[in-house]
Amino acid sequence: MSDRVVVAGAVCDRGRLLAARRSAPPELAGRWELPGGKVEPGELPEEALVRELREELGVEARPVERIPGAWPLKPGLVLQVWTAALVSGTPRPLEDHDELRWLGPDEIHTVDWLDQDRPAVAEAAGRLRAH
Ligand code: C5P
Repeated sequence: MSDRVVVAGAVCDRGRLLAARRSAPPELAGRWELPGGKVEPGELPEEALVRELREELGVEARPVERIPGAWPLKPGLVLQVWTAALVSGTPRPLEDHDELRWLGPDEIHTVDWLDQDRPAVAEAAGRLRAH
């Protein structure tokens, strides 16, 4: 069987990247991630990303492009990341997170990212810088 995909969004707005601090489970709480979650059966990854960002942050977002790569999480789960733009709303930590922060390219390393998110975060930060 193929791995279940977790999609996460590198949400960028005005030259900054959105970081979300996990509130659970205990072993991940306090670490920072790109917000997202599991793709449900029958969903496209982009659809799942739009749904997860709506549920977790209360915003409408638009997937822009996939960041190449796939990063193993626990057995049977693999992380894929898309850049995303805000369409409407202001992100709030509604679910899974207890703090959000907008980071400029020089602030990317000021939070403790989950290890598995780091390659995609580095790529997204490079794109912020290039724009
Ligand atoms: O948010 P949810 O619990 O649905 O995420 C599923 C799994 O994906 C969790 O184990 C979580 O730690 C992981 N994840 C991750 N990086 C992200 C988003 C989720 O490792 N950016």
